[in-house]
Amino acid sequence: MQKIYFPIVHLFFFLASTILTAQNDEVVIKIDKLSNDVYMLTGQGGNIGIYVGESHVYMIDDQFDRLSDKINAAIKTITDKPISVLVNTHMHGDHTGGNAKFNTNNTTVVAHTNVRKRMQANLKKDLDANKIDAEHYEKMLPEVTFSDDITFYDGDETIMVFHVHNAHTDGDVMIYFLNNNVIHMGDTYFAGRFPYIDLNNGGNAEGYINAHKKALLVINDETKIIPGHGSSSNKKELEIYMTMLADIKIKVLADVDAGKTLAQVQANASITAPYNETYGGGFISSKRILEFFYKSLKK
Ligand SMILES: [Zn+2]
Repeated sequence: MQKIYFPIVHLFFFLASTILTAQNDEVVIKIDKLSNDVYMLTGQGGNIGIYVGESHVYMIDDQFDRLSDKINAAIKTITDKPISVLVNTHMHGDHTGGNAKFNTNNTTVVAHTNVRKRMQANLKKDLDANKIDAEHYEKMLPEVTFSDDITFYDGDETIMVFHVHNAHTDGDVMIYFLNNNVIHMGDTYFAGRFPYIDLNNGGNAEGYINAHKKALLVINDETKIIPGHGSSSNKKELEIYMTMLADIKIKVLADVDAGKTLAQVQANASITAPYNETYGGGFISSKRILEFFYKSLKK
């Protein structure tokens, strides 16, 4: 029995580690310069924003723990200055997974209050299950939190970090680099694909559209947008995206008011038909986006 059992276990770990290694090897951190001082880094997980200031660096999101060395190496090709502020746009692991690695003595991790609360609750389970140690637990958590907004000043640059209520989650913030005219929208914007709206963590489809309205008040035609996922974007594309979501909302709301069930709404293919080709290629199908709207509007 053991003779059969052990090789199978070994084979499993061999395959699992091979797959993991292969995943890491394949990930290439791509750097896009969006303005004088702001860069967008793409790898696996949420897009990273890097602002190189006069004496230090601001970092927005950090993807996964396993990619931290690669991400660090990519940043080093841009600048030698230390990262002094790391902002988490929200609590999801593909945006905060590298917190512990980047949270050194020089770096302060900043996020909305609900991000710390929700991460704390999730990480506590891992700590209790001995999946992580106490040091990792501490280092993963944001060290400075705020409830509405916080502004940083660096030389000529003003960095506005502001909260949008119940959009992708209940702890989303956007980061606007005023003079560089670049905004990081976190996962309140999935450029070129239907968005994931995390209803279980306080997300809401109407709030998602309201987040776009707030962003559009701040930015202008020349603003470069770093979305949480997808290619860098601009105001015009965001407006078209918001119009798409607003149209879906109106149609789902009409069905909700008519007393239709979720299954009936999802069977109504005409709602997302005009958008599937452009936005349906991501991991959120037309049925999922209809579910997000249905459940948000049904409340
Ligand atoms: Zn997310």
